[in-house]
Amino acid sequence: MFSAFLIDAAYFVAAFLFLYGLKRMASPVTARSGIIVAGGGMLVAVVAAFLYGFDVSPRAEAHLGTNLFLLILALGLGTGWAWFSGKRVAMTDMPQMVALYNGMGGGAAAAIAATELLSGNALAHGVVVTVLAILGGLIGAVALSGSLIAWAKLDGRMNKTWRLAKHQYVNAALLGGALFIGAIISVMAIAGATETPVFLILVFFAVALALGVLLTTPIGGADMPVVISLYNAFTGLAVAFEGFVLQNPAMIIAGTVVGSAGTLLTLMMAKAMNRQVSNIIFSDFGGEDDGADGEIQGTMKSADASDAAIAMYYASKVIIVPGYGLAVAQAQHKLYEFVKLLQKQGVEVSFAIHPVAGRMPGHMNVLLAEAGVPYDIIFDLEDINEDFAQADVAIVLGANDVVNPAARTRKSSPIYGMPILNVDQARQAYVVKRGQGKGYSGVENELFFLDNTSMVYGDAQKVMVQMIEAVKSLG
Ligand code: NDP
Repeated sequence: MFSAFLIDAAYFVAAFLFLYGLKRMASPVTARSGIIVAGGGMLVAVVAAFLYGFDVSPRAEAHLGTNLFLLILALGLGTGWAWFSGKRVAMTDMPQMVALYNGMGGGAAAAIAATELLSGNALAHGVVVTVLAILGGLIGAVALSGSLIAWAKLDGRMNKTWRLAKHQYVNAALLGGALFIGAIISVMAIAGATETPVFLILVFFAVALALGVLLTTPIGGADMPVVISLYNAFTGLAVAFEGFVLQNPAMIIAGTVVGSAGTLLTLMMAKAMNRQVSNIIFSDFGGEDDGADGEIQGTMKSADASDAAIAMYYASKVIIVPGYGLAVAQAQHKLYEFVKLLQKQGVEVSFAIHPVAGRMPGHMNVLLAEAGVPYDIIFDLEDINEDFAQADVAIVLGANDVVNPAARTRKSSPIYGMPILNVDQARQAYVVKRGQGKGYSGVENELFFLDNTSMVYGDAQKVMVQMIEAVKSLG
């Protein structure tokens, strides 16, 4: 038998490893080891939670035979599936995976709430524990269904934003309904009831799941990163609440860490997009441009990859803006090969990273690190944006929304107000993309129509090969 002290000590070690790992994730140099440290913490926590069932909980002991089989089955299925999907997932599909895993965490918290309420265990521990179980269940269920809709949108399975007439009133009614049922269950706990009627639990979770769906369907693609991060924070909070219900310190600590980290990330991303979180959740942002500001003026011009390469070869200052298309084309290695040729020629080359470029925060940093690009030539938006006005050439590789000047000028645009990289202020801008496709948010890009912009059409990988050849042929 394992003593409760040993298990509590293991939780303490796990908590330390979570926090230390998180700290190491703050820099790209130490991030990889940070993930391994935090993963180790999770392993310790899972083993401790497993042993907890043997030692501390009399309820678990009573059902040890059946529980043990279910525990091992759940651990096996979860580990196997996570290992398999983690190995297979492409970098560009990572946000979908985060959304799914996140939903799973919310669902698990909701399932704990349901069993603790149904069995009467939560009620037996008094009204505070009952209220925590209810709140955790509500938040977890919203995170589950909301994350599944976010996954469907990110995966291209659901493209349109969708809303009911008086949508926000319907949401308010659903939230009010769930809280009302929660209040009834809490009153039952005060009155000494020993269990919760099944139909109340069913209605409660149906309402909570519907709320998650309806909160997410009106939100457009451009806001999905913030929404996923918000649901991540929700899941953390739900897990922490259920940790109190089960009196499991690892769940409380891990849930609080996820909840607070998710909240901070949500706020930082919303700030990067110059939005308020409430505005993202409750407004029409991310929908379509209603055209109230008229048609975009100008025409798109195209240029050859070799012409663009030669212009950069003879420039003194070049700024490169990577985006989602660079990741799709896996052109980061060729790009860095090209950059080294420019640097050899004495060109000052910098990379400008938008906080939501690509499909997840830090996506571009990871991509460039993979190719060995040194960190000291990679700059965040606020550190480089003023330099575009002095750049001879700015080249955009598979990015779109993050360089759209409509965010500055077009009030009718769904991305209006989002800070963008000032590529339009460079003397000459080149945009590498395969065709005239729109960006993730689905809006037209004014940059492509400007006099100082030329489009270089083609897959980013192929274009980079042509550029390298063009520069090599010069000498
Ligand atoms: P966008 O998705 O706006 O644009 C990418 C561009 O890349 C497209 O216009 C596409 O044009 C081009 N492209 C695609 N494949 C290739 C290829 N093989 N070679 C060359 N070009 C290619 O990317 P951004 O990085 O500018 O913007 C990110 C968007 O994603 C923002 O709207 C953001 O809100 C959203 N988002 C961000 C997340 C994050 O946390 N970073 C998470 C989820 C969403 P074409 O088809 O013509 O080639």
